[in-house]
Amino acid sequence: MNVLSVASEVYPLVKTGGLADVVGALPSALLPHGIRVRTLVPGYPAVLHKLKKKKAVGGIDNLFGHPARMLAAEYDGLDLLVLDQPELYARDGGPYLDTTGRDYPDNFRRFAALSLAAAEIAGDSVVPGWKPDLVHVHDWQTALTPVYMRFGSAADMPTVMTIHNIAFQGQFGASVFPELSLPPEAFSMQFVEYYGDVGFLKGGLQTATAITTVSPSYAQEILTPEFGMGLEGLLASRVGSLSGIVNGIDAATWNPETDPLIPQNYAHGTLKRRAANRRVLEERFGLDKGPGPIFCVISRLTWQKGIDLLAQVTDDIVALGGKLIVLGSGDAALEGALMAAASRHRGHIGMVIGYDEPLSHLMQAGSDAILIPSRFEPCGLTQLYGLRYGCVPIVARTGGLTDTVIDANEAALAARVATGFQFQPVTADGLRLAIRRAMHAYKEPKVWARLQNQGMKSDVSWAKSAERYASLYSGLLAKG
Ligand code: ADP
Repeated sequence: MNVLSVASEVYPLVKTGGLADVVGALPSALLPHGIRVRTLVPGYPAVLHKLKKKKAVGGIDNLFGHPARMLAAEYDGLDLLVLDQPELYARDGGPYLDTTGRDYPDNFRRFAALSLAAAEIAGDSVVPGWKPDLVHVHDWQTALTPVYMRFGSAADMPTVMTIHNIAFQGQFGASVFPELSLPPEAFSMQFVEYYGDVGFLKGGLQTATAITTVSPSYAQEILTPEFGMGLEGLLASRVGSLSGIVNGIDAATWNPETDPLIPQNYAHGTLKRRAANRRVLEERFGLDKGPGPIFCVISRLTWQKGIDLLAQVTDDIVALGGKLIVLGSGDAALEGALMAAASRHRGHIGMVIGYDEPLSHLMQAGSDAILIPSRFEPCGLTQLYGLRYGCVPIVARTGGLTDTVIDANEAALAARVATGFQFQPVTADGLRLAIRRAMHAYKEPKVWARLQNQGMKSDVSWAKSAERYASLYSGLLAKG
């Protein structure tokens, strides 16, 4: 089976969040199921620069006013198609934001173009001699693909639309519609019209053959007004086509036994070796040496991630004898609140503002626990890395966090299945209580080591989830 996967980011070429990790890891997990995935991404400068051997395999004469080339390349086991159109993608900033942190004003065009190119590949008019059996699209940036397919020459090909985060919907004013090269009837309830605007994600959810999201709990949650962000009604009408498949992790990149980004490798039998990583972390964040757990946070610093709740408990962490290190960037007010906490508690709280992949590995390998107080979390990956690295997750009971961490209540501890701490309600008090529970467990080294070991043994690989995607794909093709 040939699958075209379409995404606006893919690890290790370009990443702003979990989406890239998933798009980068799924192809090799699907290979044992006889599924060959080609991944289409935009030709951002960072992508073109990293791909040394690329060849033109096709093109589109006029993609929103400019010619585009389709390049093919292999990278780190990925079979890539790259849409090369400098007018759209040769920019100085990131994939979505300019150097000042603002959305590019033509994002609707940049990602409509990616979606249209995908639909044309499916319609066999771009890459001679290659055509997928199924198209899998991810998030709003590629959600117009099934819409274009419906009106193009691949109308019967099955499509899967995965929601990685329903908070990002790609909603634009109606004035962009005439620029999208869609027929007038597409501006309707059945397609992209959304309360008088154009909704990219909305259009994808209406037209994709199947909809998935990245955990079973989130699949339930987005059917409710609290989490559905306005799309709960549409999703309810398509509930028979909706499922939740939890993300796995790239077990080769995230393996404490072989990880080249950490000073000291270790396994579940050799947890004591983590102490060497802790020492490097203490240096890096300017922490005082001494006992007590190090709690880490590796996150976008936003309301979604509950970082305002974290800011409210920093003094408590220190008062209880813990230390806190934070890596991330985001809302200026939240960055400021955490910086202020770090200067109040020099030696106990450390902060690095920015994005730093190697440092994120070191933090998982040297901290004792990772805090994830998200208000909503479709799947979440950092708790999975935490499990694999013996960095005990302390998580809000929501979405994928619910599905992947087993709370250390008495029964789960006695049954030796607990892997972390969950809390609800998702408030500062809830988080505070969870931190107290963790501190209590940390004081009993046997209990703590058991939590670490049980986490390290839990299955966070792609194996089971890849099987579920494979059977979803096969089911759709059999129906077609
Ligand atoms: P989201 O995609 O909502 O941001 P996820 O938990 O699904 O959240 O994925 C976040 C990914 O980005 C993880 O791989 C995490 O390690 C990484 N990450 C987040 N912030 C940083 C940062 N400041 N530096 C390095 N990696 C980060």
